[in-house]
Amino acid sequence: MARIGFVGLGNMGAPMARSLARAGHQVSVYDLSAEAMARAEGTTHAASGVEAARGAEFVITMLPAGRHVRDAWLGEGGLAAAAPEGAVLIDCSTIDVATAREVAAAANQPFLDAPVSGGVMGAEAATLTFMVGGPAAGFARAEPLFRAMGRTVVHCGEAGAGQAAKACNNMLLAISMIGTCEAFILAEKLGLSHEALFEVASKSSGQCWSLTTYCPVPGPVPASPANRDYSPGFAAALMLKDLGLAQQAAEDTGAETPMGAQALGLYRRFVEQGGAETDFSGIIGMLRAGAS
Ligand code: NAD
Repeated sequence: MARIGFVGLGNMGAPMARSLARAGHQVSVYDLSAEAMARAEGTTHAASGVEAARGAEFVITMLPAGRHVRDAWLGEGGLAAAAPEGAVLIDCSTIDVATAREVAAAANQPFLDAPVSGGVMGAEAATLTFMVGGPAAGFARAEPLFRAMGRTVVHCGEAGAGQAAKACNNMLLAISMIGTCEAFILAEKLGLSHEALFEVASKSSGQCWSLTTYCPVPGPVPASPANRDYSPGFAAALMLKDLGLAQQAAEDTGAETPMGAQALGLYRRFVEQGGAETDFSGIIGMLRAGAS
């Protein structure tokens, strides 16, 4: 059993903290919102992040964006200074690679960037995927905690490698989803049924997760959001955020990602047109209506 300080109890953080408590860990939590704190059953409530970190062997944050993470760890009265010596520091938020590296370098202890995929349902069911960057020794100590909150845990490399993996994966996902949508739209124009295209492509070289697990038209994959009017799932606003992080990383490193840039533009338009809370596969409606 470990003593854990957990800061940020939103849609993801609250169920993650609950999973840790359920696994028998002693979890002290803090969030700016009292309402959010109340959702973290089985934990003890601290009056501040610093108090949550007191005496902890692990300190975890799950916050909205890079600026919140930098402030929480490195700002005045920040967690990096408050955490006990020898504690493993972990940020599970999805943020830019540069800030993840900056915070890791400034913290004087093992620091892991450990973003997740799997969404709120994965957090509730403790089936998240963790992509982790940072020192191997810190990873080895923290792995049982990741396994209490998730199913798949991958150590991706040094500081920032977890955020890098998330940005690359989600850029690929957005591109493959748009490609899958376009294939169905072309099929419709050609008089080819959704079922026939699915039958062929799911067993041929067009096969991908966006088609076989998350099919953007209703019918072929009964569990996909297309069958429930594109209720998320993975909201388009979050996909837009992740594409922004990927394009920022591409600019910072000089990587050529024209399809990623195109996907960012299309998702931005979808969100501007009111699709923010729609599942990201719902972009098929905008593409069908003519996006360009
Ligand atoms: P959220 O907005 O629901 O929760 C964020 C919480 O952080 C809020 O409760 C807020 O009050 C709290 N907070 C902000 N600043 C704070 C501070 N200084 N101290 C204490 N608490 C503070 O967000 P979420 O959906 O839980 O997402 C969290 C992170 O996980 C984001 O980076 C997001 O991109 C990532 N993520 C979300 C999903 C998803 O499906 N929601 C999936 C994968 C990754």
